[in-house]
Parts: sequence; structure tokens; C-alpha cells
Amino acid sequence: MTHNTPEFDVIARHFTRPATNAVLGVGDDCALVGISRGMELAVSVDTMVSGTHFFPDVDPENLGHKSLAVNLSDMAAMGAMPYWAMLALTLPKVDHDWLAAFAKGFFDLAEEFEVSLVGGDTTRGPLTLTVTIMGEVPIGAALRRSGAKAGNDVWVSGRIGDAALAVAHRHGKLVLEESDYHEAVMRLYEPTPRVALGQALRGMATAAIDVSDGLLADLGHICSLSKVGAVVELAAIPLSPIGARHVASDAGRNAIVAGGDDYELCFTAHPNSRESLQDLARVLDVPITRIGQVKRGKGVSLVGADGKPVKIDGRGYDHFAAP
Ligand code: ADP
Ligand code: MG
Repeated sequence: MTHNTPEFDVIARHFTRPATNAVLGVGDDCALVGISRGMELAVSVDTMVSGTHFFPDVDPENLGHKSLAVNLSDMAAMGAMPYWAMLALTLPKVDHDWLAAFAKGFFDLAEEFEVSLVGGDTTRGPLTLTVTIMGEVPIGAALRRSGAKAGNDVWVSGRIGDAALAVAHRHGKLVLEESDYHEAVMRLYEPTPRVALGQALRGMATAAIDVSDGLLADLGHICSLSKVGAVVELAAIPLSPIGARHVASDAGRNAIVAGGDDYELCFTAHPNSRESLQDLARVLDVPITRIGQVKRGKGVSLVGADGKPVKIDGRGYDHFAAP
């Protein structure tokens, strides 16, 4: 680009890469992309605000990874194939070292998933990152939140809780050993979007969501849209060794079931699918665990090994909840 204003300098130096899967990428008024026959366009947007979604001292490379990862996770939860991303960046100042590290985190993940950055917007203001992701899903095959039926199993991928345990540690609600904190905080900053699993679940999962606000809250979204309830067994929730060390404390348990930021998939499926789901998990090398059951009624309850309800404080993150 020949423009040499600071804004165009930022775009040209850090965010202009060839769009390998688009008709036209960064540089014009719009990007142009082609949609394959028989496919629907899946689109999602996520904003991350400094101080709300990440600690202001976050490593910019981790932040670049996370800003795209949370969007890839939405594609995964829909069973969609991500292709194109757009990045709206609001920056307090132009810091090229910071931007280079951010772009590295973003593009390393984009390359891994063969996603092209096809456009965006660059403005000055409090640090805020908005990524729009677009992809394709075969017509009618997307995994919606509304398809869970009473009698279905509830499943989650991976392990739940480490990201929220790191946040709880930072907020002084519990104390992690230093090495545990360093491990847990990487789950917070560099979540693994379950894109291949999401696509493989098409036709098998009856409903799906990614765990961003908290396991019980996100399962609650499936339940309200599906007009059903669910019971989750605390002892069945897959934990890391760090989670296992903290699940007995109130603060630890709250973080695990009500904290968020895991970006694992929570989905429902008919019990007939158990074996095929386990086969699929083995092939993809992504662990999945059955944690409960969909019931008639409404709401999500958490039960202990004795079948009695387990009390928890939080129910997931709500930006507009009264403090
Ligand atoms: P407009 O004035 O039409 O809004 P801009 O000056 O904002 O255009 O952007 C010029 C081009 O650079 C557009 O193609 C836009 O999509 C792209 N762009 C702007 N900011 C970014 C960014 N942070 N990342 C990727 N592309 C960007
Ligand atoms: Mg613009």
C-alpha cells in the first residue's frame, strides 16, 4: 500500500497477507468471497475488551491467538468450516512491537486452520478486539442449540475448569501452586478450538454450544432453547490434575462449573450414539466425556455422587448482571 498514515501503516505492516481462499482480501472497500454450492454461510462475531475479557498485562501473542480462537470455537460449536476472518482493532496507541506479536499469535492460528484474514477496521480508543468469522456448513446440517431431547446424554470435550481456575487465582478467590497457575493460564490464553470435532458431530449431536460463559450456564442455553432441563453429575466432569486438586473447595468447584473460558464443546446426543461418538473421539484424538442427562422440565442441576443437589454460587458470566 502507498498510503502512509499511521492507520494504513498498521494495516499494511501487520495485517495484510494474501487471502488464499477469497476472491479479494484486505485493501478494497469490501472483501469478496465465494460460497460453495449446497452450503450455508455461518457467521459469528466476538468482542474482547481489555479489563473485561483479558488482563491488561496479557502477552499480545496470546491475545492474538485468543481473539481468533474464541471465534473458531463458535464455528466448531455450529459444526461449520471456518474460512474467512475480519479484525476490528481499537488501539490506544500504535506500538509496532505489540502489534507484531499480536499478529503472530493471530496468523499462526489462522494458518493452522487455513483461515484468511480478509479485512477489518483500525481505530483509536481503549484496547478492544472484535473478530468476525465466516465459514460454511452444509445446508440444514448446522449444530443448533435447540435440538436437545429428554433422554439425550450430555457430553463435553477435553477438560473443564483450568481457565476459570487461573482467573479465580488472579482474582484472589483461591490460590494455585505457581506451576499449576502457569499451566492453567495457558488454557485461558491459548484455548484449543474443537473445529474438527464440531464438524464430525454433524448428524450425531442433537445440540451443541461452546463453553465460554461457564459449563452450567452454557448447558442452560441449550436447555432453554431446546425447552428441556438437564442434570449434570459433578463427579463425571472431566478435570485436569489441577482441577482435581481444587474441586473439593467451594471456590474451586464454582470456578470449574460456573467459570468459563474453556472453549470446549458441550453437546447432547441420543444414547444410541455412545459408541460411534467414542470411536470418533479416538480417531480425532479429542477426549469426550458423558457428564449427565437431558430431562423434561427446565434448568440445569448439578448433583453429587449421592444424587443430592450441589450448591454453587455463580451461574456463569453475564456482562449486564447486577453486581
Ligand atoms: P474504509 O475506509 O472503507 O472503512 P479502511 O480504511 O478502514 O476502509 O480499511 C482499508 C482496508 O484495510 C479494507 O480492506 C479493510 O478491510 C482493511 N483493514 C482495515 N483494518 C484492518 C485490520 N485491522 N485487519 C485487517 N484488515 C484491515
Ligand atoms: Mg474502516
